[in-house]
Amino acid sequence: MNQNLDNFNEITECGVCHTKEYTAFLKDGIFSINKCSQCTTHWVTPRLKPEKLKDIYQTIYWKSDSPKDLGYDDYLRQDKLYQKTFSRRFKNLIPFLSKLTTTQKKVLDIGCSNGVFLSMMQKKGWKGVGLDISEYIIEQAQKTRAHEDLEFRSGYLHEKVAEKEKFNLITMWDVIEHVEDPIGILKQINVRLNPGGLLVLETQNINSFFAKLLKRSWHHFKHFEHIYHFNETALRNMLENTGFNIKSISTANSGKYIEGKFLIERSQRVLPKFLHGLVKTCLGGFQHTTFYANMHDEYIIVAEKTE
Ligand SMILES: [Zn+2]
Repeated sequence: MNQNLDNFNEITECGVCHTKEYTAFLKDGIFSINKCSQCTTHWVTPRLKPEKLKDIYQTIYWKSDSPKDLGYDDYLRQDKLYQKTFSRRFKNLIPFLSKLTTTQKKVLDIGCSNGVFLSMMQKKGWKGVGLDISEYIIEQAQKTRAHEDLEFRSGYLHEKVAEKEKFNLITMWDVIEHVEDPIGILKQINVRLNPGGLLVLETQNINSFFAKLLKRSWHHFKHFEHIYHFNETALRNMLENTGFNIKSISTANSGKYIEGKFLIERSQRVLPKFLHGLVKTCLGGFQHTTFYANMHDEYIIVAEKTE
């Protein structure tokens, strides 16, 4: 990635509560992570300027030469893995979805990528709208799912979904840490939910065991794209201040199906060279074998609209 500082802005205050007081948390190359003294949100500085930030989500993001720094190895090829992950997660959402007071099933997935989550939801009887700022991945979604009754839109929430368009469920899987104004988007989501509607969001936990153990080698430190890191306190504050009541916050169901290849690639990031070589030799024959892995370093939150 181009680290020309002309492409970046220095961030001097917390993007959640706008406090200017912070403590230095981590330094990694040109990047620093600071922790807000007020709300404990962690933010990355410098940050790509808004237009440059949007640019990174085009083609290379989805098939990246260096996924440990940016994007995915090959997102579209791993469709089956994401299907399995979301099917498993859906089962854990059933107790919450079954309590919705309306029988109308309408879901908005923000950061929908190629629509894999919505495709699964449609099979469960939900009508879906997918939104992503990546024009490239929305084109892929429209092509791949042309025969499914789904709608995909490219752009930002406030531009592409009218306030009067209401949903019973809005989801954001691994998205809020990429958003420049987290409070702004949560307020926009609240307006677009029916009374009692649910927000489900997933994001990494900077207070987790693995974040503390791996320090700057933690796989969620991808400074171009993960511009915020949260812990439970920060997440609770944000949601309670934007009109939500948290029904569940847990790492229990946030695992993912991955291939052996992914473990080999990530071990390169955290292990000394000889140990990485050992992992590569041992797992070499399992590159395309599927595993379910949960490092308990990501939260899934279910929150209900209260106002
Ligand atoms: Zn703050």
